[in-house]
Amino acid sequence: MKKLTLFLFIFFGPTGYSQEVPADAKEAIKAIYTEALGQQQGYQWLHHICTEIGPRPSGSEASNEAARYTMQMMLDAGADTAWLQPVEVPKWHRGDEWSKAYAGGAPISLPTTALGGSVPTPEEGVKAEVVEVGSFEELEALGEEGIKGKIVFYNTYMDHSLISTFNAYGGAVKYRWAGAMEAGKYGAVATVMRSVTLLRDDLPHTGAMSYGDSEVKVPSAAISWQAADKLSAMLEGGKVELELYLDCGVQGTATNYNMIADFKGSEKPEEIMLVGGHIDSWDLGQGAQDDGAGCAHAMQVPNLMRKTGYQNKRTVRVVLWANEEFGLDGAKEYARWAKENGVHHWVAMESDGGGDVPRGFGIGADDDRIEQVRTFKSLLSPYGLHVFAKGGGGADLSPLRGYDNFFIGYRPESQRYFDFHHSARDNIDAIHPRSLEMGAASMSALYYLLDNLD
Ligand SMILES: [Zn+2]
Repeated sequence: MKKLTLFLFIFFGPTGYSQEVPADAKEAIKAIYTEALGQQQGYQWLHHICTEIGPRPSGSEASNEAARYTMQMMLDAGADTAWLQPVEVPKWHRGDEWSKAYAGGAPISLPTTALGGSVPTPEEGVKAEVVEVGSFEELEALGEEGIKGKIVFYNTYMDHSLISTFNAYGGAVKYRWAGAMEAGKYGAVATVMRSVTLLRDDLPHTGAMSYGDSEVKVPSAAISWQAADKLSAMLEGGKVELELYLDCGVQGTATNYNMIADFKGSEKPEEIMLVGGHIDSWDLGQGAQDDGAGCAHAMQVPNLMRKTGYQNKRTVRVVLWANEEFGLDGAKEYARWAKENGVHHWVAMESDGGGDVPRGFGIGADDDRIEQVRTFKSLLSPYGLHVFAKGGGGADLSPLRGYDNFFIGYRPESQRYFDFHHSARDNIDAIHPRSLEMGAASMSALYYLLDNLD
């Protein structure tokens, strides 16, 4: 009975799209996972990117070195063409950075890092009284009278009651993005914030901030979770002064590169199945989870197909975008070029959620297409893929929205992702080779199934 249902399901399909699954799909998918876990080629690529090349901030030569390395790896894996697309990006500089809190006794050093895009402090640093706020509403209530001449301390949190850590991140990151701009309006001389993380660690986590159109630009930094606890406790005892020193800033522009590699399709080469991650990272760690893992995933998608003897019908294109973190420049340039050249992306998938064990996919498409992808569940759930959510894609696919209409966001387990995110902890040790390869195989298996649809 079960077999009959499956038979009808496959050949007539529940959706507006015709449904085709190759007779040997089960074996082909198993072969993809076996190859991924057996060879661990994605992990080897990631290991090289993290340990031989290292952090790849916007405008860095390391970002270009990673682009050249991954291009060569894709050619070695059988890519028909691979090239580097130049992208003009801001050149980010970070030098010394520290802060000390004074409350009468000996000063207490707080682990501190400049937010990406912050202006530096004057050479002698800034020293001023600290005023703590828990929200923009509190900041506004204090007004110029309470803020002017002081350092604003955003003691703000990711909402850890939420199941989705990305939703919790979305709720907290506004203080990182706009905290300096808002505090500057009331005459603050600098801002510091509790790092945007869920781990109660002693490392600061950086990330992009913005001054918007504001003329007033005050230095802006993150302090570790534990430092934020200390500072808040000191403030409960009375007046606290903070001394902040940041040597950082945007120093003009530089050329980075998107890496683009095509594995040509045998039947519909003009239909592109794009898969990508971003090659840049923040500068405090090696960018292993964010987003070296996504690069390794994307590179493995065509490699695993070819290594298991599968010839893709559509062209599988790997794109590793430059500078996602600091303005999406690579993604914007790729989308501009694609539109200008009439590139047809039949589907586009992104991995930018780290290298933990796979959970599933977000699917950004019309309802019939979503239902069609959901029919793959029975083939993929044995590998831990249960999430087939509505709405997909990620930041680097956003410039393609409204141009092509079928997007997929790969979704790994994310409860611990923000432990590593944008901090010195985001290095190769943060990656388990098996989780990474399970993710790569999951993405490759999905693309294998999609490639066999009309
Ligand atoms: Zn990322």
